[in-house]
Amino acid sequence: MLQYYPDSGVKMKYGLIADIHGNLEAFQVVLAELNREAIEQYICLGDVVGYGANPNECMELAKGLEPIIVAGNHDWASVGKTDISYFNPAAKEAVLWTRAQLTKANVDFLRNLELIHEFEDFVVVHATLASPQVWDYILTISDAKANFAHQTKQVCFIGHSHQPFIAVEDGDGNCEVLSGSSLELQEGRRYIINIGSVGQPRDGDPRAAFALYDTLSKQVEIRRVEYDIKLAQDKIIRAGLPQNLALRLAYGR
Ligand code: ZN
Repeated sequence: MLQYYPDSGVKMKYGLIADIHGNLEAFQVVLAELNREAIEQYICLGDVVGYGANPNECMELAKGLEPIIVAGNHDWASVGKTDISYFNPAAKEAVLWTRAQLTKANVDFLRNLELIHEFEDFVVVHATLASPQVWDYILTISDAKANFAHQTKQVCFIGHSHQPFIAVEDGDGNCEVLSGSSLELQEGRRYIINIGSVGQPRDGDPRAAFALYDTLSKQVEIRRVEYDIKLAQDKIIRAGLPQNLALRLAYGR
């Protein structure tokens, strides 16, 4: 439901998800959490598939949210739309397995995803604004500065590294990385916010990550939730996918 406030445009409560990677157990728990939040619009920052054992099931759940969604490298790799020669062996094996599983409808859906989506005062992309289809990572202050150079909106939400990360730039071009998992956006500052991964966290915290953005209160919050890691691992093993893809879920690496 849209709510209009005088002088401030459309105010929305967004639910943001990224890097689900075929992990149905994590995705279901994240959506149960978001269901309690009166989300008005879902946004998916890419990589619905790849690595996990339930690509089609995750696709159906994702499509059911009617999200604004951008392409991730595994999404496009799984439909033959991006080069996988630079993928590590386990990632490559998972991409080829996923490719064989995906339904025609899901292949078509993934093939047609856009790389960048602009909203009134923020933008979303899987990797970087400079060259989204090259799938570079934003991990450091200097990576962040390079992205800010291409960022015309106040906030850029990203995924890809599977590590929550918040960089802020003041009006004079000074950049810093913020600690913590929530913030109130300040006038005159710009932000890059990696919301972490639903289905394969890599920051040492194995809990699924997702984010909330309330444009009225200007609050962004990255949240974590526990899910049935053991079941997701068992499915990966049973599917014949590389064992390490199961093991790493327990460590969040
Ligand atoms: Zn990913």
